[in-house]
Amino acid sequence: MIFNKIENVDKADVVVVGGGTAGCAAAISCAMMGVDTLLVEKNSFLGGSCTGGQVTPMMCNRVEGNIDNSSINALIKRKLKKDGFALDDGYGNDGWFNPEMMKFVLEDFYLETGGRILYDSEIVDAEVENGKIKSIIVHNRSGLQKIEGKIFIDCTGDCELAYLSGAECFCGNKKGNSQAVSLRFMVGGVDFYKLRNFISEIGEVCILSHPLFEMASEGNLNTPLSNILKKAVDSGTLKVEDIVYFQAFAVPGMPGVLSFNCPEVSDVNIFDGKESSKTLIKCRRMIKRLFAFLKNDFPGFEDSFIISVSNMLGVRESRRLKGLYVLSEKDFQLRKKFEDGIAKTSYSIDIHGEMDEKSSGNLSMGKGEYVEIPFRCLVSADIENLLAAGRCISSTFIAQSAIRIQPTCRETGEAAGIGAAICAKENLNVQNLDGRAVRFEMENRMKKLL
Ligand SMILES: Cc1cc2nc3c(=O)[nH]c(=O)nc-3n(C[C@H](O)[C@H](O)[C@H](O)COP(=O)(O)OP(=O)(O)OC[C@H]3O[C@@H](n4cnc5c(N)ncnc54)[C@H](O)[C@@H]3O)c2cc1C
Repeated sequence: MIFNKIENVDKADVVVVGGGTAGCAAAISCAMMGVDTLLVEKNSFLGGSCTGGQVTPMMCNRVEGNIDNSSINALIKRKLKKDGFALDDGYGNDGWFNPEMMKFVLEDFYLETGGRILYDSEIVDAEVENGKIKSIIVHNRSGLQKIEGKIFIDCTGDCELAYLSGAECFCGNKKGNSQAVSLRFMVGGVDFYKLRNFISEIGEVCILSHPLFEMASEGNLNTPLSNILKKAVDSGTLKVEDIVYFQAFAVPGMPGVLSFNCPEVSDVNIFDGKESSKTLIKCRRMIKRLFAFLKNDFPGFEDSFIISVSNMLGVRESRRLKGLYVLSEKDFQLRKKFEDGIAKTSYSIDIHGEMDEKSSGNLSMGKGEYVEIPFRCLVSADIENLLAAGRCISSTFIAQSAIRIQPTCRETGEAAGIGAAICAKENLNVQNLDGRAVRFEMENRMKKLL
């Protein structure tokens, strides 16, 4: 009976589950306020999608002036930039970064704040008593362990903790379908000079200057690059599914390396173990075909090699918490502002895969326009000591597609960390915390930084 072997090994005032994009910001933010913080992560490194998932570059929130609302995100970029591992593209995005070096920066930054990390530990259960999470159960090399806490923050991307504790969650669109997933990969040994010339020769525009570079195509478009990919399908080198979405970015501090934001697969239930395993196998076969095509037929890739394939399936959207407020497309239409607004974005609705909502998703904003995310989107409607941050905050399917970008995930992470710290210090239920205090602290931190 393994459940008899659970030991009460640890406790912390605030327990952050998931040390990814948002989780690191949450844990740093909370520990910075002098609160005993434990970060539980199933991988053996921090960063989640932005490191293990190889998701680079960060998009930017596109709010006029491109000013960060998260001091922690701004500091992360500064730390990376100092050693040449982050770059500004000169077109409004200073979030080009090196995912491997991001692991070091996040770990050092968090440990400097005095926080603790438990790596290789996957949450498998939660003990809830009188509407509060009393403890979580994690599995790691020591077996099953119990961790008690006053406040818990779910930063797993998939609302794992919320789900295990019985909090209400949403998932997918009205039909229950989620956005397409991708398995990213990196290719090294690329001759950028040759590649850039080829891309210009075929008539694609590349505005970015060396060392930055991007190329992108969608199978249903009629662009010079997509026509080349279609020819590869006609000749049998690639399959139609391989070219649905094709995109690659240069990586700061990694000369000759491209990070591919593909292949992409639709209609995957990531909560079905067999289905996600089959998808990983399918994606790896797609990568093999894409790489063979690049190496044999694409100028600049003659001496290239695969450096690595992401160690996690890239999930754009899955479970979302039901919070005190559900951010919706209506809020985007109205460019809504909130007294407890803790994040700002002007990023467009960005739905991947064949979804009905794609056509209704054109809510792009004009100059100076943006929507705010209220702190209440991070507060569980059901559990008194549970907050969430990252792509799994309380939002509709359509709204989530815009707020899932990394800077916004870090803003919600930083806000959740502040909220959790205040609640732990003052013995408050998260629902009773005035989100304006969190906004105030975030604005103060930014003022100090500028
Ligand atoms: C293919 C793809 C391309 C994208 N492209 C871009 C882009 O170009 N720019 C951009 O800004 N954004 C992009 N995004 C979006 C963005 O990267 C993610 O939405 C964001 O990083 C999610 O952050 P998060 O903290 O919510 O989740 P994650 O960063 O994924 O972190 C979740 C963490 O929780 C951990 N975890 C999960 N379950 C458990 C458990 N049971 N126990 C313990 N730990 C657990 C994971 O290991 C992980 O570390 C992309 C996303 C994908 C998938």
